[in-house]
Amino acid sequence: MKCVICKTGDLREGRTNVTVERDGRVVLIKDAPAEICDSCDEYYLDDAVAQRVYELVDGTLARGREFTAVAFPVGAPA
Ligand SMILES: [Zn+2]
Repeated sequence: MKCVICKTGDLREGRTNVTVERDGRVVLIKDAPAEICDSCDEYYLDDAVAQRVYELVDGTLARGREFTAVAFPVGAPA
């Protein structure tokens, strides 16, 4: 599958750090499974991973932090 951003890179399975900003607060999800472009480093999350990322973000923001880094759970669907 080709990257839709740069249209030249190929996507490879890997892990990436996902930064989500919401309401002026930032949550960094570390090592989320993703497909990563080998040319421009754009990443693509599948639906299950994206859902989990947003659950982590919601849970983290609910605890009221301004900036937080959370490791993606090991054993989650890749
Ligand atoms: Zn690309």
